[in-house]
Amino acid sequence: MDGIGLGENNQGINPFANAEMPNLKSLLDGKSLFKETAPFHGDHASLVAVDPNVGVDGLPQSATGQAMLLTGVNISAELGYHYGPKPNPAVAEFLKDGTLFSRFVKAGKKTALLNAYPPRYFDGIDSGKRLYSSIPLAVTNAGLNLFRHEDFLAGRALSADFTGAGWRTMLGFPDAPVTDEHQAGRKLASLAKEYDFSLFEYWASDYAGHHQEMDKAVELMETFDGVLGGLVEAMDDEMLVLITSDHGNMEDLSTRRHTDADVPALVIGEKIAREEFTRDMKSLIDVAPAIWNMVIEN
Ligand SMILES: [Zn+2]
Repeated sequence: MDGIGLGENNQGINPFANAEMPNLKSLLDGKSLFKETAPFHGDHASLVAVDPNVGVDGLPQSATGQAMLLTGVNISAELGYHYGPKPNPAVAEFLKDGTLFSRFVKAGKKTALLNAYPPRYFDGIDSGKRLYSSIPLAVTNAGLNLFRHEDFLAGRALSADFTGAGWRTMLGFPDAPVTDEHQAGRKLASLAKEYDFSLFEYWASDYAGHHQEMDKAVELMETFDGVLGGLVEAMDDEMLVLITSDHGNMEDLSTRRHTDADVPALVIGEKIAREEFTRDMKSLIDVAPAIWNMVIEN
């Protein structure tokens, strides 16, 4: 989830202090995604704080943040800066090889990005008007296809807004299938079961942070909570779910910029696996090695 940090429990600035999120709270023993909640190891979920700044000055950005999540390399330190939102050639170089997607493909594992992209996205890429962001760039560099409109209709991929409502209201597909949050969460779990490693990217949170829209951000997080409920209900004992972010933003609506806050690593699944998975997780560059080990060892 783009642009979600662990902020203060402050209703004036943090949507997590205002949103009704019963499913999240039941995972965190009544708490929410606040700085003060981490570290947490409960019966169903763990929460650790992850540093997105990685020792580099300036505010963390999406291209480097996502690239570090996918590679485990301290790209911001190697370049000397954080960069985003889309990768420049220097960041893109790190995404040619050595990402989770390319490494899992080479290891014979089944992997995918579960988002469905609309026709106009591919039109933009093909015409050169749109650049891939770090995650789809890593996916395509690994020789994998991005899911398209027909995959969405066939139920092989999920809409970026979870429910599919945006395909009707924003993308010009009045007949697109729309589901509720709960079913979207169940769908996410059933799609994930098909793969050794899959990722779903959600960016409306960063957008809401930049626009400093409390009502919109609360609405998005309440939708996300419904998804979380369906996901937890439909996941099986073999699955480990990680919800994390590339940098903070939405948790502090007093600024339209990104923040330097730690980001959450909210992990749902079997307790011993969660503890092993989060044991050495301190910054963004620790996430990819933890995912790699979990998939390869299990
Ligand atoms: Zn941003």
